[in-house]
Amino acid sequence: MRVLVTGGAGFLGSHLCERLINADHDVICMDNCFTGRKKNIDHLLGNKRFEFMRHDVVDPFKAEVDQIYNLACPASPVHYQYNAIKTIKTSVMGAINCLGLAKRVGARVLQASTSEIYGDPSVHPQPESYWGNVNPIGIRSCYDEGKRCAETLFFDYHRQNRVDIRVMRIFNTYGPRMDPQDGRVVSNFICQALRDEDITIYGDGSQTRSFCYVDDNIEGMMRLMNKDGITGPVNIGNPGEFTILQLAEKVIELVGGKSKIVNKPLPSDDPRQRRPDISLAKELLDWEPAIALEAGLKKTIPYFDKLLSKGK
Ligand code: NAD
Ligand code: UDP
Repeated sequence: MRVLVTGGAGFLGSHLCERLINADHDVICMDNCFTGRKKNIDHLLGNKRFEFMRHDVVDPFKAEVDQIYNLACPASPVHYQYNAIKTIKTSVMGAINCLGLAKRVGARVLQASTSEIYGDPSVHPQPESYWGNVNPIGIRSCYDEGKRCAETLFFDYHRQNRVDIRVMRIFNTYGPRMDPQDGRVVSNFICQALRDEDITIYGDGSQTRSFCYVDDNIEGMMRLMNKDGITGPVNIGNPGEFTILQLAEKVIELVGGKSKIVNKPLPSDDPRQRRPDISLAKELLDWEPAIALEAGLKKTIPYFDKLLSKGK
C-alpha cells in the first residue's frame, strides 16, 4: 500500500513510518518540522520506499494513497501553547485537508486523537462513551477543542461522504525519540535525573496519568487502521495508573543519581486523573499493552542518556 503519515518526523510518526516500511509499504512522510526532527527519520531517508515531504498540513495537498495517518499536531503543552492559534488551525484545517484527500482518492484515514478529549474527567477510568469535561476557553483548549473538532469533522465526513475513518484516542505515550525539550513529564524527569537536577513536580504530585510505551501504541494504531468495519473512537493506552510523585520516585530509582524532588505551581486546567478503559480495544482489536512502566522506562532512559552525553 501507499501510506501518507502526516507528522511523520515526530515522536510517534517516526516509529510508525519505520513499522510501515518494515511491513513493505511505501510511505510518504509529511511534516513541517515544527516539533518533529529530521534526525528522527534520518535512518529512513535512503530507503526507496520512503519519501519525505516538507509541508504544512494546514495547506491543501494531493497524493495518491491508500491510507492516511493524521498525526500532525504539536502534542506537549509547552509546544501546543507556544502558538495556540496555529495549534487549533493545525487540528481543524489538517483534519479537513486529510478528509478531503481521503474522500477524493478513496483512502482510509486515521485521526490521532487524544485522551484530552475527556478534559479533567469526572468519570474514571475513561470509556469512549464518556463525553468529557473540557474548558473551552482555557490554556489547554487550543489542543483539546481542536482535537474535539477534528473528531466531529471525521464523523461528519463519514456520515455525509462515507469516508472510511478510524479515530484513535491516545493516552500519554513515551519512549525513544521523544524531544527532550518538549516539557512532557517523562522526558523532563528522566533528563533531570540524568543531569542530577531537581525533579520538578507541578502541584503536590497526586494527579495521575497512565503511561503507554511507544511500541504498544504503534501496534494498537496499526491494528485499528487495518481492522475492517469499525470507526472508533477507540482508546489506546496503558491502564497502569500512577501518581506523578510515584513516577518521579520510579525515575530516581532507575536512573540513580542525586536528584531531589521539588514542587512547582500546577498549571491551570491540569487534569486530576487519567486512565483509559481499554475494554473496546481488547474486544475489537485483540490489543492490550505488553510493556509495563518500569520495563518501558528502562528502554527509554538509555536513549536520553545517549542524547545528553552527545550534547555535553
Ligand atoms: P510530536 O510533536 O513529536 O509530533 C507531531 C509532529 O507533527 C511533529 O513532527 C511536528 O513537526 C508535526 N507538525 C506539527 N504541526 C504541523 C503542521 N502544521 N504541518 C505538518 N506537520 C506538523 O508529537 P507526538 O507525541 O508524536 O504526537 C503525534 C500525534 O499523536 C499528535 O497528533 C498528538 O496530538 C497525538 N497524541 C500524542 C500523545 C502522546 O502522548 N505522545 C497523546 C495523545 C495524542
Ligand atoms: N508535570 C510535572 N512536572 C514536569 C512536567 C509535567 O509534574 O516537569 C505534570 C503535569 O503537570 C501533568 C503531568 O505531569 O500533571 C503530565 O504532564 P504532561 O505534560 O507530560 O502530559 P499531559 O498533562 O498533557 O497529560
